[in-house]
Amino acid sequence: MSEIRKHYFLPEYCIIAEGRAKRPSDFAGAAKDSEKNHSESCVFCGGNEEKTPPATAAYKKGEIFADTEKKRVRNWDFRCFPNLYPALSPAPPSPGFRGKGLEAFPGFGFHEVIVESPVHGKKLEEFSDAEISGLMGVYKDRVCHYAAREKIRYVSLFKNSGKAAGASQNHSHSQLLALPVCPQVLERELKAIREGEKCPYCVLLEKEKTSTRLIRENSKFVAFAPYYSTGPFEVWILPKEHISFLGDFSPELLFALGEILRAVLRSYGKVLGNLPYNHMFYQLFETPEYHLNLRLMPRISTAAGFELNTGIYINTVSPEKAASYLRGDINEPTREKVGREK
Ligand SMILES: [Zn+2]
Ligand SMILES: [Zn+2]
Repeated sequence: MSEIRKHYFLPEYCIIAEGRAKRPSDFAGAAKDSEKNHSESCVFCGGNEEKTPPATAAYKKGEIFADTEKKRVRNWDFRCFPNLYPALSPAPPSPGFRGKGLEAFPGFGFHEVIVESPVHGKKLEEFSDAEISGLMGVYKDRVCHYAAREKIRYVSLFKNSGKAAGASQNHSHSQLLALPVCPQVLERELKAIREGEKCPYCVLLEKEKTSTRLIRENSKFVAFAPYYSTGPFEVWILPKEHISFLGDFSPELLFALGEILRAVLRSYGKVLGNLPYNHMFYQLFETPEYHLNLRLMPRISTAAGFELNTGIYINTVSPEKAASYLRGDINEPTREKVGREK
């Protein structure tokens, strides 16, 4: 069980969740099966449904089913279930330790795993059009499901791919954490957006569309290496239309989002190989001023003392160069060129 603790004097939070330390890692066991369709030791594989909590939503041929304790849905396309080692939970106990001037809340919230395919070794970049747009539809559906819950202020939707990116399972999956607080990073952005005349994302989008940092665009989205890049090969994907929440996406937008995300991941594969990465949605519901964006960060460098001390990141690959690699203008970079450690 967990609790949300507030900073001594700033509106910032951390989650104390000792239970998560117990979560097992599949990497040693199932990594050897990473090329295979099925791994007996993998808890996320199709056919191994009994090894996880019952699915809250199993998507199968466009319909949604739910498991019961006794009966599990088979042959699903996408499968969502509560994290067995949640950082937050729907009925948390009161915080254990509090003192004068120290604020803590029960660790209320939801923590869900979204398994993206029943096939063990399948990566997002290998998904068909139907599979990748289907996954974007599941993202929308799950985010809406939790945004509608009472007391939920923010839904964090993200993917950890690879151990160094924070994944404890090899099998391709995303996660969702629904929080009772809005993270400071979004609050700060929103304040700046509200103080300006125009949406700054709409403005930067126009700039990046014609810049040397542009990687790719389709009818609905633009993917670029942001001018302000905090790490090598960081990529932002922005919808061309001003839209704040995945829940408002049309089927056309979902399709185009899947298409451009898969294209960027394929470029990562070509340039960086099988490097760990994170992708994260920045979005707000009931906040039309915000402009949704999806950010991708390959885990090439580690935040060291300076970065932790200052919040200022030293990036060894300029976004201009990263974009030209990802567009395919420059051949595969060497390890030294991308600034990868060791
Ligand atoms: Zn698996
Ligand atoms: Zn905008």
